[in-house]
Amino acid sequence: MNCIHRILLLQLASLSLVRAADYTAEGKAWWSRVQILADDKMEGRNTGSEGYRKAAAYVAGEFEKFGLKPAGVHGFYQPIEFRVREIQEQQSRLELVQDGKTERLSLSDDANFGLPPDMAPKVEAPAVFVGHGLVIPELNINDLAGCDLKGKIAVILSGGPKEIPGPLKAHYSSTKQQWQALRNAGAIGMAVVRNPKSADIPWSRSTLARLQPAMSLADPKLDDAAGMKVSIRINPEHADKFFAGSGHSNSELLKLANNNQPLPKFPLAVTIGARATVKRTNVPSMNVAGLLEGSDPVLKREYVVLTAHLDHLGIGEPVNGDKIYNGAMDNASGVASILEIARSLTTSGAPLKRSVLFLIVTGEEKGLQGSKYFANHPTVPKKAIVADLNTDMFLPIHSLKSVRVFGLGESTLGNDVRAICSAFTVEVQLDPEPDRNVFIRSDQYSFIRQGIPALAFGFGYEPNSPEEQLHKEWLKNRYHAPSDDLNQPVDKAAAAQFNHILLALAQRVADAPQRPQWNADSFFRRFTH
Ligand SMILES: [Zn+2]
Repeated sequence: MNCIHRILLLQLASLSLVRAADYTAEGKAWWSRVQILADDKMEGRNTGSEGYRKAAAYVAGEFEKFGLKPAGVHGFYQPIEFRVREIQEQQSRLELVQDGKTERLSLSDDANFGLPPDMAPKVEAPAVFVGHGLVIPELNINDLAGCDLKGKIAVILSGGPKEIPGPLKAHYSSTKQQWQALRNAGAIGMAVVRNPKSADIPWSRSTLARLQPAMSLADPKLDDAAGMKVSIRINPEHADKFFAGSGHSNSELLKLANNNQPLPKFPLAVTIGARATVKRTNVPSMNVAGLLEGSDPVLKREYVVLTAHLDHLGIGEPVNGDKIYNGAMDNASGVASILEIARSLTTSGAPLKRSVLFLIVTGEEKGLQGSKYFANHPTVPKKAIVADLNTDMFLPIHSLKSVRVFGLGESTLGNDVRAICSAFTVEVQLDPEPDRNVFIRSDQYSFIRQGIPALAFGFGYEPNSPEEQLHKEWLKNRYHAPSDDLNQPVDKAAAAQFNHILLALAQRVADAPQRPQWNADSFFRRFTH
């Protein structure tokens, strides 16, 4: 069969999928899975919790029912050991010292501690504002040039110039990349002011998460923040406490950043004093992996990975009297989609050439830990993983007019998703908000770092549309809040339609004669082994 016939057939196949699907019924089936995973009984599925274990057992049970092959280490499970750190706020303090005067800061209102694995119990250090703190050799950008950071804390305003392509900026803003550059320059820690313009959650809500346990992989080789003695998140509205006496103000810096103008670099007039008492424990958790073997004698030894994270934030600070962070959209929705796709592929009878690995990961909310662990310890040969298609909080909160694709311009997977969406007469949208760094904020990034082409998806919307308003309000009110639960408006039929697009994409990639390739001009091509 030649190429053109193949493409025609593929298109016909996806067209018939479009016609045959009963989105209302399938939307209900999808939602019934979300209802199980986001039930209060699952207690918010925090990494290492009993609720997470129950949810993982449900996923493994479904995989077994579908007839998938166990692809973990113990059956469907890939166990992972986590290190846990909890701040003891009563025995901790953060201070600014200037001209011999000490100002004690509020750990809820002024700033919070991040809790990197190497957090020191006591740090007293001068600080330097380093702009966006970006070091991007290929663009000759070095915000640290000329800054003396030896033994100091780097203070950073999140974001970066508009000219820098989104994925590149996202990559160099990742903890691993940014901290490596700062550490090489001699810094002992970092303090970040998040630009409210690109922050998904207002400070008043994000500060509630400060008492959540921080977790990292027990394997120190996989620690992105090695050597970071202190990590501070500064409330943008109180940042002037840090800038006092420096000759600069937070509003000036924000104005420059928002007008895309260069930021000054300057030493702070204050010295930062941090004492952190941290309770350290270990906890086990697990990924869940199931395999649908391919039918082609050669291509079956290659794997298309479909990922979604199962963990959420567990039980935390109550908001409006509710303390269970159910994570219905984040990301019971994505896990339910993967389960629906697995069900569909195992019952449709149409065999795929390549194998499909369904991978449900833990620790995403703790910094993409479960996917990072898998990508470093894959249960199938790493070189044989041809793509990762990740679904995280795709937000079916209105009808599906367009799919927003992260990584669209990076690999041939972009052509695949365009072809599928056009068969479904749904538009494809490039990431219009690169400063939210979505490309590095979910599990696809763990695969990208290993050289594996990947995409992530969400519901698209036009600027200044009613749909945009819905998304903004959702992020402000429900994202990482207890109200991301089962009592929220969801367009279930639209979710089913989205699932069909993802299914058709997985089929196309699994059946294609060639494995996906990074585009020649993609920055991420360099990670290919
Ligand atoms: Zn999340």
